[in-house]
Amino acid sequence: MNDHTPRHGRNEPSSMFFWPTADRPVAVKGDGIYIWDDDGRRYVDASCGPQTTNIGHNNRAVVEAMRAQMDDICFAFRSHFKNGPAERLADRLAVLGAPKGLTRAFFCSGGSEAVEGAIKLARQYAIAKGEATRYKIISRLPSYHGSTLGALSLTGDPQMFAPFAPMMQTQPKIPAPFVVERPEHESEDEAALRYANMLEDQIIAQGPSTVLAFIVEPIGGAATGALTPPDVYYARVREICDRYGLLLIYDEVMCGSGRTGRYLAGEHWLANPDIVAMAKGLAAGYVPLGAVMARGDIVQTVEDAGGYAHGHTYSAGPLACAAGLAVLDVLMDNDLVANAAEKGAVLKARLEGLMDEFPFIGEVRGKGLMLGFDVMADRQQRIPLPPSLDAGSAIAQACYDRGLIIYSRRMLDGVRGDHFLVTPPLNVTSEEIDLIVELLRQGLSDFAPKAAAVMA
Ligand code: PLP
Repeated sequence: MNDHTPRHGRNEPSSMFFWPTADRPVAVKGDGIYIWDDDGRRYVDASCGPQTTNIGHNNRAVVEAMRAQMDDICFAFRSHFKNGPAERLADRLAVLGAPKGLTRAFFCSGGSEAVEGAIKLARQYAIAKGEATRYKIISRLPSYHGSTLGALSLTGDPQMFAPFAPMMQTQPKIPAPFVVERPEHESEDEAALRYANMLEDQIIAQGPSTVLAFIVEPIGGAATGALTPPDVYYARVREICDRYGLLLIYDEVMCGSGRTGRYLAGEHWLANPDIVAMAKGLAAGYVPLGAVMARGDIVQTVEDAGGYAHGHTYSAGPLACAAGLAVLDVLMDNDLVANAAEKGAVLKARLEGLMDEFPFIGEVRGKGLMLGFDVMADRQQRIPLPPSLDAGSAIAQACYDRGLIIYSRRMLDGVRGDHFLVTPPLNVTSEEIDLIVELLRQGLSDFAPKAAAVMA
């Protein structure tokens, strides 16, 4: 048994430093959807951390596969050796990506690295094609693409990037398609097309020959609470990218790896991305692992021009890739992508059901088990709850106190949000969904009087 006792007790300073969060207990054990703390208290992890532990905690098949790999070799540097797990994982991803034309993979250690890798591949492709004037990457507001400076320059969160703005080249943004806030005379599809057309306006404003790519989470994550645009949106986006010679990059760091009920979230639409960034669910929290998936001809063009000038020490390490392969086996052998679609539909309907009981739930959104909801003082008018209520933290904490972990986020000062992600593992059972919904109901009930006071 490992020693899980922290050097310091609870509520005492730590030698580590992080983005501030509430003081938290010590996690000592995980199994499936549950985590236990050092007081023996059980939590239902309906968040998968930050949408990461997609096959649940402590899956024995993955642990055994990692142990077997560790017995053989933990690390071999790619400049010195090939390794089987990395080659096999790339082959498996190429098969999964083939319907979208994504047949080549670069491995890294997380989402920010995957986004950096994706935009650097895009830039090198433009240079190789003789289009070196292209360097701007349009993204959406709000959005989250990572915390390293390149990825942060794409992240649509003014508070997050403001301190670092002088250190980087902030990239142009267009509004994320919150079509639910459309004017009365407009249909959902019309609103979605209006939002998509903003991409064209921005390209023209920037100067088309300077714009390299558009990056987007096909189904939104932390920044938009599972925002899912109507089907017409991505077809129009693709059309505009083609018209102006932009690459379309999907950031599937959160929504990929089966979470939305398709292996790639982009599979929900006919439009094909050129490059996809993946991480989180790829190795499902067992090790840090990310990937850039790209069209074969893009990679070939870059290779012909001298090769992809990018890499990390841990790129394509055998242990990380062995874990990624084992996670993929668990996903496929147990039909977990289909389970995500099926259980996701049930959970979404149950969350929508909670709207009758809790008038401050504004909208439930998402696909598969990438589900979210936001809270509003007025659902019809889309008036947010006052930021002073801090509904995001208050509701998530009320749930936590009852043993349920959901993911809360407050974007743009609570003006666009507060919202929540409810994203259990892809092997969630019907009984576990019952438990999640019941605990969520209790957490929302704890908060309800506060909302009622400002809604009255
Ligand atoms: N892109 C998206 C859509 C994300 O959700 C995240 C993390 O939440 C990232 C990129 C950055 O990933 P990481 O935290 O692994 O660097």
